[in-house]
Amino acid sequence: MASGFDPTRLVTGSMMFKPLLISAIMDHAELYHGDTEIVSARTEGDIHRYTYGDCALRARKLAQALDRLLIMTGDRVGTFAWNGYRHMELYYGVSGSGRICHTINPRLFPDQLRYIVNHAEDQAVFFDLTFLALMKALKPECPGVRHWVCMSDRDHMPAEGFEGLLCYEDLIDAEDGAFDWPEFDERTASSLCYTSGTTGNPKGALYTNRSVVLHSYAAALPDSLGISAMDSIMPVVPMFHVNAWGLPYACPLTGAKMVMPGAKLDGASLYNLIEREGVTASAGVPTIWAGLVQYVKAGNLSFSTFRRAVIGGSTCPPSLMEDFAKLGVEVIHAWGMTELSPLGTVARLKAKDVGKSPAEQKRILEKQGRPVSGIKLKIVGGEGKSLPNDGAAFGDLYAQGHWVIDQYFGIPDSPLEQGWFKTGDISTIDPDGNMQIVDRSKDVIKSGGEWISSIELENAASSHADVAMCACIGIAHPKWDERPLLVIVPREGSGKAPEALKAELYEILSAKVAKWWLPDDIVFAEEIPMTATGKLHKLKLRERFGGYVWKAGA
Ligand code: AMP
Repeated sequence: MASGFDPTRLVTGSMMFKPLLISAIMDHAELYHGDTEIVSARTEGDIHRYTYGDCALRARKLAQALDRLLIMTGDRVGTFAWNGYRHMELYYGVSGSGRICHTINPRLFPDQLRYIVNHAEDQAVFFDLTFLALMKALKPECPGVRHWVCMSDRDHMPAEGFEGLLCYEDLIDAEDGAFDWPEFDERTASSLCYTSGTTGNPKGALYTNRSVVLHSYAAALPDSLGISAMDSIMPVVPMFHVNAWGLPYACPLTGAKMVMPGAKLDGASLYNLIEREGVTASAGVPTIWAGLVQYVKAGNLSFSTFRRAVIGGSTCPPSLMEDFAKLGVEVIHAWGMTELSPLGTVARLKAKDVGKSPAEQKRILEKQGRPVSGIKLKIVGGEGKSLPNDGAAFGDLYAQGHWVIDQYFGIPDSPLEQGWFKTGDISTIDPDGNMQIVDRSKDVIKSGGEWISSIELENAASSHADVAMCACIGIAHPKWDERPLLVIVPREGSGKAPEALKAELYEILSAKVAKWWLPDDIVFAEEIPMTATGKLHKLKLRERFGGYVWKAGA
């Protein structure tokens, strides 16, 4: 039978059309949550507090200042800044006025920073005081930047040594805020974020107003990050790492209070801020949380309001989830990437899971989770065939959706394969849609034609109380192509003899993984290199152990 669908008979609905614009998020916060606070630990060393009402006014003043500086519509404005209220003003003042807010990760190598600023053709760069030396070094290499702005007041401006440096507060003070957010096509670019790829040049993901607004609604949903006007949210994930996972948008969208930690992300600083500001939820990478949990445990402290920790960026070790649970904090494991704005999946139970045993529930919540509405995932096997969502088959993970990249900034070739974006992750998907990362495709260990998940070995090893950090890498092997080598950083003051710790680790691993997965050796290190976004830098680690030779018989 012919399909009943006839595109010539489609009827256009008769509802108002309002483009999805970032400025509307701040408008809403100003109108209906105008007295809700944004609290910031400033790089100047003090705590700053003001409201969404103040933020909206100053964002409009910033838009006026950009007009005055002749930063044109569509121009890129670079930022080197921690999480704080001025950075928030840039998010809205720049994107809301039709310009592009280009957040830059200051932890990248100077060569990459130079490349990124020049590739994006940033017309102005705004930076926190802490990055003054970095900016001084960068300036001669970025001749296209017309204005350098120090995000500070007159009293804290550097005395000399930076020709033409502008003062942020002077720019704001010169304006009156009588500015209306312009209305434009919702597909207009709003923000630019470069991937922190460990190989090759970073590539830019250029978000649209529409993709950011839709992502914000999705991020706030109860089964996503579950954000509401009852919350006090502390984005620990930096605003230079995929827009702090969308929190600077989702918080004003819902009217949640924001608590910005600035540059100090150690356990003590975070704990004090959480307690003082009644933080209810936060988001960040596992390494940051490990520091906080360690601090709380060592001081025999407790949380009075903190209830939810969103963990992503790398696999959340189950031991970290258990530690948090003991402190009354629910861990929400989430997966995403720069190319996905970043939210892809969130691990949450369904009603049908309620009757399951605690162990079964734990297994679901330890996965990376099911797609947020608006995202579709599939896994593909060796011959390019889609694999079943049976929780066992694993293959290359592909994504599609409202906030998935279509094209990298300034690169004509499409990264898509038949309309799908290849994530570079290898995963399983179960019949309920719960996705689990087996490994990053370049990190999976290929042993005798079979794959070993470095993540699973790391998860098991990190459950040992004397392990501060660990990473598993594949090392070339004459017979098996590659075999796993486990690198361990013992916890400070552990005092356990290496051989004893090694034996205990093998015991733990043997109980959790197949025998042929066991690492052929366990070695100890003082530290493990990390990437600019706080992930294990396995490429560097593989280089460091490039000369490693398996012992005879291994
Ligand atoms: P980035 O673009 O820097 O945010 O990195 C994205 C990559 O981080 C993903 O492709 C994954 O490999 C990894 N990643 C993000 N979240 C998780 C997670 N919850 N578990 C495991 N890997 C993750």
